[in-house]
Amino acid sequence: MSKFKGKKVLIVGCGTSGVAAAKFLVKQGARVMISDTKQRTELPEPLKELGDLKVELEFGGHTERSFMGAELIIVSPGININNLQLLQAAKAKGTPVTSEIELAVGELEQPLIAITGTNGKSTVTTLVGEMFKSDQKGAFIGGNLGTPLIDYVTQGQPGQVAVCELSSYQLELTEKMVPAVAIFTNIDQDHLDRYGSMENYTAAKKRLLKVCDRNSWVVLNYDDSVVQGFAQENVGKLIWFTMKNPLEVGGDFAEKFFGAYYDATKNVIVTKVTGKEEIYTLELFKLFGDHNKQNLMAAICAARVMGVSQQGIQACINSFKGLAHRLEFVRKKDGVYFFNDSKATNIQSVQAALTAFKRSPVILIAGGKDKNMEFTPLVPLVQKKVKLMILVGEAKEKINRALGDFAETYLVGTFEEAVLMSFQKSRNGDIVLLSPGCSSQDMFRDFEERGDYFKKLVNQL
Ligand code: ADP
Repeated sequence: MSKFKGKKVLIVGCGTSGVAAAKFLVKQGARVMISDTKQRTELPEPLKELGDLKVELEFGGHTERSFMGAELIIVSPGININNLQLLQAAKAKGTPVTSEIELAVGELEQPLIAITGTNGKSTVTTLVGEMFKSDQKGAFIGGNLGTPLIDYVTQGQPGQVAVCELSSYQLELTEKMVPAVAIFTNIDQDHLDRYGSMENYTAAKKRLLKVCDRNSWVVLNYDDSVVQGFAQENVGKLIWFTMKNPLEVGGDFAEKFFGAYYDATKNVIVTKVTGKEEIYTLELFKLFGDHNKQNLMAAICAARVMGVSQQGIQACINSFKGLAHRLEFVRKKDGVYFFNDSKATNIQSVQAALTAFKRSPVILIAGGKDKNMEFTPLVPLVQKKVKLMILVGEAKEKINRALGDFAETYLVGTFEEAVLMSFQKSRNGDIVLLSPGCSSQDMFRDFEERGDYFKKLVNQL
């Protein structure tokens, strides 16, 4: 009999993961209630997804009755646990509080490859999963990206492995998970509106390191000073990836090197994770920028130690097309190249985009909802690469104050104006780049809606 049978479970937050958790729990015979501060009318999609599932619904605010009556509480990632007093009270009373991810992990029978970091999570997650697939091995690809992990459990866990993107929010309540592989892409400022400080944000990410054991492979970015520092607290089997040749780093690192590095002279990735050296050529790799070489190295290491063949990995490198909204080429119009990087919602991702363009001048469209970010780290790249900056959205004044002196800058009222102006001011060979450095919710539902709208406007030019 399921341990959830007859149990009163409260799910806080009626979003994608909350609905997925409800579906699983109802199937297990639990008595489920979902509580959300939003009104019913604000949640058409989750309600459609729930259909006629037997759950009690509480909208427009949380009640003491629902929290105090619960035997288990599942908190959705969008909810700041420290700000919810009812939750603290239930916890103090001894009610277990967990997340959809932890719920899923408790049921997981397949090995888990978990990916976190400030940027590159979705790209690495997809790459790892696709590497399994190109080796004819089934894999779940999801988590923060796409399908919630609990859905995979509900579906009976097909395939050989679960490849799961984890955001810092999802990691906050992580305790039980023991990943077969944990990947850390990088750590830079993000979500400071929720965390208040880099220390708190880094601590949330580090939860994934804390739950690894001696048998976990821990894949770390040597080129990121914060992630590099994680090695000191690591108890798992350490794998490095780096853009540097280990011989240049020298010392112990070179001698005992275990992992992957990029050899620029040959445009290949060299790995040492199987007892012998292996070479992967990037001749047919389509993604731009060094950051994507880093993503690829992380993915190769994870896939290889988990049994994907060298041929399978190379086939994936040759065929992978990248994800929409991540430095996505839209079109060339009158000699001007348009790129949609709507998923760039923090500073590091804008830096990665600007660095990726080696020659042409960039017309940068930026702005959106500020996450309490410091934009000045962009100054050197704006000076070097940006010929014109068009700012839009809530954060436009703040960005203008930080960067406006370093490139010709215009503040516009609407997204339509931004796109039109970018084209009017462009010249043959220019790159127009939407890389907002901010989240999208001031004007759009999410980054996908923003990116799709950008593409639509660009295609209408
Ligand atoms: P995440 O899931 O962590 O948000 P994505 O793969 O969706 O990562 O990429 C988000 C943004 O970050 C995109 O703008 C993308 O071009 C950029 N990006 C991807 N990988 C990296 C990386 N390793 N370092 C910096 N920026 C990156």
